[in-house]
Amino acid sequence: MSDRSFLQWPFFDDSHRELADRADQWAAANLANVDHADLDATCKRLVAALGEAGWLELTAVDPRDENSRIDVRSLCILRETLARHNGLADFAFAMQGLGTGAISLFGTAAQKSEWLNKTRTGKALSAFALSEPASGSDVANIAMTATRDGDDYVLDGEKTWISNGGIADVYTVFARTGEAPGAKGLSVFIVPADTPGLEIAERLEVVAPHPLARLAFKGCRVPASAMIGKPGEGFRIAMSVLDVFRSTVAAAALGFARRALDDSLDRVTERELFGAPMSELQMVQGHIADMALDVDASALLVYRAAWLKDHGAARVSREAAMAKLYATDHAQDVIDKAVQLHGGDGVRKGHIIESLYREIRALRIYEGASDVQKVVIARQTLINSKGR
Ligand SMILES: Cc1cc2nc3c(=O)[nH]c(=O)nc-3n(C[C@H](O)[C@H](O)[C@H](O)COP(=O)(O)OP(=O)(O)OC[C@H]3O[C@@H](n4cnc5c(N)ncnc54)[C@H](O)[C@@H]3O)c2cc1C
Repeated sequence: MSDRSFLQWPFFDDSHRELADRADQWAAANLANVDHADLDATCKRLVAALGEAGWLELTAVDPRDENSRIDVRSLCILRETLARHNGLADFAFAMQGLGTGAISLFGTAAQKSEWLNKTRTGKALSAFALSEPASGSDVANIAMTATRDGDDYVLDGEKTWISNGGIADVYTVFARTGEAPGAKGLSVFIVPADTPGLEIAERLEVVAPHPLARLAFKGCRVPASAMIGKPGEGFRIAMSVLDVFRSTVAAAALGFARRALDDSLDRVTERELFGAPMSELQMVQGHIADMALDVDASALLVYRAAWLKDHGAARVSREAAMAKLYATDHAQDVIDKAVQLHGGDGVRKGHIIESLYREIRALRIYEGASDVQKVVIARQTLINSKGR
């Protein structure tokens, strides 16, 4: 049983505690035997199941209620819980939010009702298409163009590393509309997967596989009404979306770390070495202490960022960056210690600890690499220091 004491922290109210219990029970009942052989089919099945159970309602605003907001603490609780049970289920859940984040935060009523009713019920899958071969960290350097032509925009260029690429029904795509150089000349568009001119150029494989693709846009025409927000607002919209979802990446890392700690606690209390449980060896206790500290410190940073956002902070870039940097880097340490404590089993293909070791790595790269989070933290800390 995982440590639940964090739910008593003042960041939460009773509805969060109840949500955490329900999510844990659902995950235990539904995610024990997720098939990782056919990723596309499994992800579609997971989205359908998450939709049927109502969990996807948390990933986007309710189009029927103009006061509806995304509750970041609920998103984080769900991601932490799903990641603790199954990484692919967390991925399937997270993409429904990231892929539609721009619509939830900046979409018109018509855009929300066209897409969010479907993504919140698992009837459509979504994807977030920002990165390009020459602009991953350097978002302002996006080369893909969107050229106005009458009542339409025509998209030309390439996107890469697009999660859900190949299985998504809708992509939110960032492209250069050229109002100004660099970051101020980008806009974002809703592009249904069946739009002529949008092709899956290549499927990509990574160490912890999930559907991932490089996309080619060749004369891909969308109506001007497909733009989210105004021309030139793309960069600001992308950063606002990441401001919400970065804390949730940290929450997923926390879920992986908590699973590694839980299974390590079972291992060291059940396995005997030199005539006594491993847990009596002081160096083992040293590992357990480090792991428990990393997990709690990560949880504090994750739920602080989420609480701040839910309590009306316009931007939480510094806090979300701290949460993502710390939780992902330290989850890597926690999982590495879990591998050590599990001995040979820790590197045995198919063992949960071996899969966590692979799952955690990409979280330190996507949605802003760890180094980029340091830049964000330093920049904001220096700005804040001017007010001293
Ligand atoms: C599994 C996976 C899923 C992904 N899913 C998506 C998705 O759904 N949608 C999407 O748009 N993108 C996605 N990405 C892309 C991801 O966001 C980029 O890979 C990431 O932003 C890094 O960009 P890059 O790979 O081009 O590396 P680069 O930008 O070339 O960076 C390489 C390294 O340089 C260092 N670095 C970068 N900037 C700085 C700096 N300012 N100071 C110091 N060091 C720095 C970092 O260590 C970084 O890892 C995904 C990537 C992966 C691996």
